[in-house]
Amino acid sequence: MKLVELIKNGIKIGGMHWNVEVVESDLYEGEKLGLTDYCNTHIFIRKTQSEDRMIETLLHELIHVALFHAGIDEHDESLINALSHNLLSLMRQNSELFDYIIHSSASSLFSSGKTES
Ligand SMILES: [Zn+2]
Repeated sequence: MKLVELIKNGIKIGGMHWNVEVVESDLYEGEKLGLTDYCNTHIFIRKTQSEDRMIETLLHELIHVALFHAGIDEHDESLINALSHNLLSLMRQNSELFDYIIHSSASSLFSSGKTES
């Protein structure tokens, strides 16, 4: 399944629904690959990049959102670039560990509003 299919109905972040839209045009400053609109809970991902780059761009924007939800308004772009790139490598190189973390009983409490019975 391609990224565009996975995100077409949006994603939940911090209990809020966020729309994710893949757009054709350059984003505002022309060089940006992604953009986060905090007021409208909307993430834009530029279409003119490879699938792999789109995934990293989405992760980059998700880190912005996580910081925003934590009340941090000033974001260091180079730090977020480093985090998104290295987190993606970490997840891909240790997919079994991340699969365990995602599906462990403690983490299921935070996923998609489900609770264990
Ligand atoms: Zn950024």
